[in-house]
Amino acid sequence: MEKYVVFTDLDGTLIDAETYSYEMALPAITLLKERHVPIVFCTSKTRAEIEVYRKKLEIKDPFIPENGGAIFIPENYFDFDFEYTKKVDGYKVIELGTEYAILRKTLKAISSSTGCEIIGFGDMSAEEISQYSNLDIESAKLAKMREYDEAFLIQGGENCVDLVLDEIQRSGLGYTVGGRFYHIIGDNDKGVATRQLIELFSRRGPVKTIGLGDSLNDLPMLREVDLPFLVKKPDGSYDPMVSFNGLKKARGIGPKGWNITIKEILG
Ligand SMILES: [Mg+2]
Repeated sequence: MEKYVVFTDLDGTLIDAETYSYEMALPAITLLKERHVPIVFCTSKTRAEIEVYRKKLEIKDPFIPENGGAIFIPENYFDFDFEYTKKVDGYKVIELGTEYAILRKTLKAISSSTGCEIIGFGDMSAEEISQYSNLDIESAKLAKMREYDEAFLIQGGENCVDLVLDEIQRSGLGYTVGGRFYHIIGDNDKGVATRQLIELFSRRGPVKTIGLGDSLNDLPMLREVDLPFLVKKPDGSYDPMVSFNGLKKARGIGPKGWNITIKEILG
């Protein structure tokens, strides 16, 4: 039987874009767990946010927080040695991203030079993040615990969006777009982290990788997997910015599409 590994985005993919519920995907999650298929969360969410979902779903596999900023691998998960940056709270961490303080400083400088207002999670209270994102206050607090990625909004219309994103590129850093926010990141993305983690899984023997996402920040991850799937947005459309040869379309919105896709592959 094929050894699968699932790489999945969370917001708008495994969990509903509005309600943050994974209810619709539970049958497929149960099936994957029964078959011992690793489920790797690859998301713009922070480690603190991801840990809540890992606990609720009893998933103990490695994960990739903050748009590929790092790979967190439970200490005894792989029974071979590999290079990592540091050990934290029972994880071996492979750091790929740029320090949060540097990302914040760059955004401040770009805001001054362009005259465009940039509001990052670091500028917002948990209450404000909650208003913008529909997260509850507790979750918003966890979303503020950022290490490798700053989520932000740009005020001042399309003109400012272009100006700010251009300046980020000129600074040598990168950006990506999630379901709700822009993200400034270092020289990393979900794809680089996914590729490295696939390499580790492959050391145990051949694997077939499945990827699921909904937005532009998932594109690099989807390009790295054997079976890439794009789920529908809440309005029933597919993100037009995510397109390449071989990309498959899941037949459903977010977690519903996730559930259908996994059941079809494993069924
Ligand atoms: Mg998403």
